[in-house]
Amino acid sequence: MANKRMVSLHIVDTDAFLEMPVSSQLLYFHLLVRADDEGFIGNPKKIMKMVGSNDDDMKVLITKRFVLTFNSGVMVIKHWLIHNTIRMDRFNPTRYEDEKKTLGLKENMAYTDDLDQPDLLELTNKEKPEYLKKRELAMKESDLPYSFNYKIKNAFIGRKCPICTVEMRPQEMSKNCMPTIQHNTPLSLGGKHELGNISVICHNCNVSYQDKPTDKLNAEEVINVWKTIGNQSAPQVKLSKVKLSKVSGEANASPSQIMSKFLEDEEYFNKMVGFIAENKTAPQDFVLKELKAFKSYWSELNKSGTKQRWEMEKTFELQRRLGTWFNNSQKFSGAKKKQIII
Ligand SMILES: [Zn+2]
Repeated sequence: MANKRMVSLHIVDTDAFLEMPVSSQLLYFHLLVRADDEGFIGNPKKIMKMVGSNDDDMKVLITKRFVLTFNSGVMVIKHWLIHNTIRMDRFNPTRYEDEKKTLGLKENMAYTDDLDQPDLLELTNKEKPEYLKKRELAMKESDLPYSFNYKIKNAFIGRKCPICTVEMRPQEMSKNCMPTIQHNTPLSLGGKHELGNISVICHNCNVSYQDKPTDKLNAEEVINVWKTIGNQSAPQVKLSKVKLSKVSGEANASPSQIMSKFLEDEEYFNKMVGFIAENKTAPQDFVLKELKAFKSYWSELNKSGTKQRWEMEKTFELQRRLGTWFNNSQKFSGAKKKQIII
């Protein structure tokens, strides 16, 4: 077994990971370091004892599905292949053959125990390492966030498959018509996992076009949809360095004067949208949508109709509140999407 391990920021830098208690995060790192070359851990209890973790720390990891468990007591790090690249020269196959047989590999290189999903790669020892390596490399080199596949597929529900024109449906409604990712130049042929090389087509067509190059199909549409739903733009909206008082033109205005102006002065509001979008290179429609939502939330009247929500706060600094707002809109954008699909 190799005694060095890699950790991918694609996983440990996500909100899902960082929102776990520190003690669960610590346990995860210990499990990651001590897993075998395929991410399996035969003695999780011993490791917990060693680290001083309790059952709750482990429960969090299991519930959040950062580790998958087997009846035998063995565990596996779900995102193992995202953290670690297989070096075939130093690689020792896992002893936990039986457990491995119950796993599949998702297109984003995460292990899964839900073998019912389409497009799973088989994880037998007969797998083609070259193909796997190319796929791994493409995922690692990609600038797209880990959640990209999931989000873009959801966004294409209700749109037409560019090949057979069927309306794409959620997996629960129709497996054949569910949206899937198609790399126009397949990863196995050296294609990249990047915008411009990605189309979303129905599962049926995907099966017939697997590993075959296609023309651009709806790659342009994917780019446009990602512009609006991708949180690529959202993380860039950090307001700490944007001086909103500059926009108001009143450097000495009090926090409540600035907020009143923001709510009442349409010109100021629009100026702010443009200013944030321009400074933070976020799409204008995204910023506008968020600022409108922010405005309507904070200006809601209380029950007696005498005060707006923001006036009930002890202090209300527009800049700080907007910063929090954009952070949250980014954090919850995945969850919101999830609820739309029924
Ligand atoms: Zn189709």
